[in-house]
Amino acid sequence: MENVYENKMKLEFLSKSSNEAFARITVASFASQLDPSIEEISDIKTAVSEAVTNCIIHGYEDKVGIIKIECTLFSNSIYIEITDNGKGIEDIEKAKEPLYTTKPELERSGMGFTIMENFMDELKIESVKGVGTKVTMKKVINNYSGGNRYELETEDIIKAQNQSEEALTKIIEANTGLIWNVVKRFAGRGQPLEDLYQIGCIGMIKAIQRFDTSYNVRISTYAVPYIIRRNKKIYKR
Ligand code: ATP
Ligand code: MG
Repeated sequence: MENVYENKMKLEFLSKSSNEAFARITVASFASQLDPSIEEISDIKTAVSEAVTNCIIHGYEDKVGIIKIECTLFSNSIYIEITDNGKGIEDIEKAKEPLYTTKPELERSGMGFTIMENFMDELKIESVKGVGTKVTMKKVINNYSGGNRYELETEDIIKAQNQSEEALTKIIEANTGLIWNVVKRFAGRGQPLEDLYQIGCIGMIKAIQRFDTSYNVRISTYAVPYIIRRNKKIYKR
C-alpha cells in the first residue's frame, strides 16, 4: 500500500466576526504541513474567510451559534468542511451564482461562493432550510519547493513574452483566482462580471508583457495594478 500522509483536526467556535481571522489563520497553519506556496495559503485563507463570514452573516444572522470546521489532509490535498446550524439556504444553485446576494443592504456583493469555487479545486454545498449549511472544499497542494516554483514561473513568463500562447494561457489560468478577486471590487456598477473578468485578463496580459524577470517579485503581485487600471478605465469611458 502506498504510504500517504494523513492528518485531521476539528475546530469549534462562536459565530462572532472577531473569530473569522482566528479560523482562517488556524486552517492555514494546519495546511502548512503540506508545504504550500504563499499563493496556495492565501487562497485557502480567502476561501475559509468567505465561508465563515457566510455562517456568521447569513447562517446565524443576529443570533450567535456554533461554527464547526473539520480539516483532513490526505496525500497532497486538504479537505475543509465548514458547518453551521443556522437558517440554511433555500436555493443552492442560485446562491452560487456570481453577484447573487440576499443581503445587498449590507453591501454584500454576492461573490463569496464564486471566490471559493475559483480559489479551491472543489466546492460542495449542502444545506437544509432551518437546519444548517455545510460547505466542503478541497485544495490540491502542488508541493514544489519555493525556488523551483519560482523558476518554472519565470520560464513561462519568458516563453509568453516570446509569443507562446500555451505559456500565456498557463500563467493566466494559474492566476484566475487573483483576477476574480481584483475585478470583484468593480462589480455591481453596471458592467457584467464576465466582461470585467475579460478586462482583468487583458490587464494580466499587459503585465506579463511588461514584466522584467529580474524584478524579484511574483507576477501576481506585479499584475494587480494593471488589472485594477484596466477595470477603472472601462468606467471612465
Ligand atoms: P459576499 O460573500 O460577496 O459578501 P454574499 O455572502 O451574499 O456576498 P455568497 O457568499 O456568494 O454571497 O452567498 C450567496 C448567498 O447564499 C447569500 O447571500 C445567502 O443568501 C446564501 N448563503 C451563503 N452562505 C450561507 C449560510 N451559511 N447560511 C445561509 N445562507 C447562506
Ligand atoms: Mg458571502
